[in-house]
Amino acid sequence: MVLTDNIKATNSAFAIDGVWSSADSFVVKESSVLRIKFCAEKPKTVTSNYKEPNMIDKLILITLTLLTINVFGQIESSTYKIVADKFVENYNENDFKSIFDSFSLEMQSALPLDKATDFLKGLKSQAGQITKLQFVKYVNGTYASYKTNFERALFTVNISVDNNSKINGLFIKPFTDENLPKMERNITKLQLPFNGEWTVFWGGDTKELNYHIENQAQKNAFDIVIKDEKGNSFRIDGITNEDYYAFGKELIAPCDGEIVLVVDGIKDNKPGELNPMYAPGNSVIIKTDKNEYLFFAHFKQNTIKVKQGQNVKQGELLGLCGNSGNSSEPHLHFHIQNIEDMNAATGVKCYFDKLNVNGQIKTDYSPIKNEKISNVK
Ligand SMILES: [Zn+2]
Repeated sequence: MVLTDNIKATNSAFAIDGVWSSADSFVVKESSVLRIKFCAEKPKTVTSNYKEPNMIDKLILITLTLLTINVFGQIESSTYKIVADKFVENYNENDFKSIFDSFSLEMQSALPLDKATDFLKGLKSQAGQITKLQFVKYVNGTYASYKTNFERALFTVNISVDNNSKINGLFIKPFTDENLPKMERNITKLQLPFNGEWTVFWGGDTKELNYHIENQAQKNAFDIVIKDEKGNSFRIDGITNEDYYAFGKELIAPCDGEIVLVVDGIKDNKPGELNPMYAPGNSVIIKTDKNEYLFFAHFKQNTIKVKQGQNVKQGELLGLCGNSGNSSEPHLHFHIQNIEDMNAATGVKCYFDKLNVNGQIKTDYSPIKNEKISNVK
């Protein structure tokens, strides 16, 4: 069984391209670009002719800009507003055919109805309904960028509209707020959040090593289990949670900090079944005095010992390892993020101060997939 716990539904046939995010990749001068990545396929790049907004739109835009200067110094044109609002309405009503009908001919041939429907259905199963769409700015004067709150995610939705008011470019990526704190790695010295030897199931900087990397907040996450000499994470057949070595093991604070979030009361799954309704399951967030947010997910139900607002010391018991939330088997999911809100956060690379890695002591090290790790006594 392959361990999974991401916020993606398991039957989802797509992945939102979260890797392709540098602004200058989205070059829209003479053309608009659509990049939607489907599983097992290369990212689709569609180029179609882009025409200047017509003169009336321009005039409206300029006039309104003079009258109303918002924080971004730009306002949304009426054409874009109509198209974007309609997109949201159709999306929330599962009317994917109407969204397809709002595409330009080039978009329709690049993204046929069945593919468009798959993509939008997948997006909905991962992120839920759109609850708020907020115009941010025009980029290169050609496409509009929207900060878009979904029920379970925060994305940037970039929409390009041709002069027939048809969508000829659509790009969805995790939202990044330039005002949020930038954090490359942790400064606080951390020990491993458990006793004994555990094995990294997912961890590292590539997709092969770490399937979390497509998720903005979880890109540097670890999924950690306990394995025996045979490489199994369970004793007999893995049918019950109790059969797993990790289930019920103590999870401890890697450093001093303040407990800023506790969720408990979510039942543990049967192994192999997932509960995407609340993906992290029973969880704890510790905030360090360097404002790093340490996120622990999938605790065993009703075992969390700490309370929100409490200060903890390094080594203090947090709760017991479990299998709650979007988790396919008992394991610890651990990552660091730059702010508390997982939907808006960016992941921070996590280094442990001193640890055994496959029998050798390493300092200031970020372990990767398949490494056996334990604290140095
Ligand atoms: Zn995980």
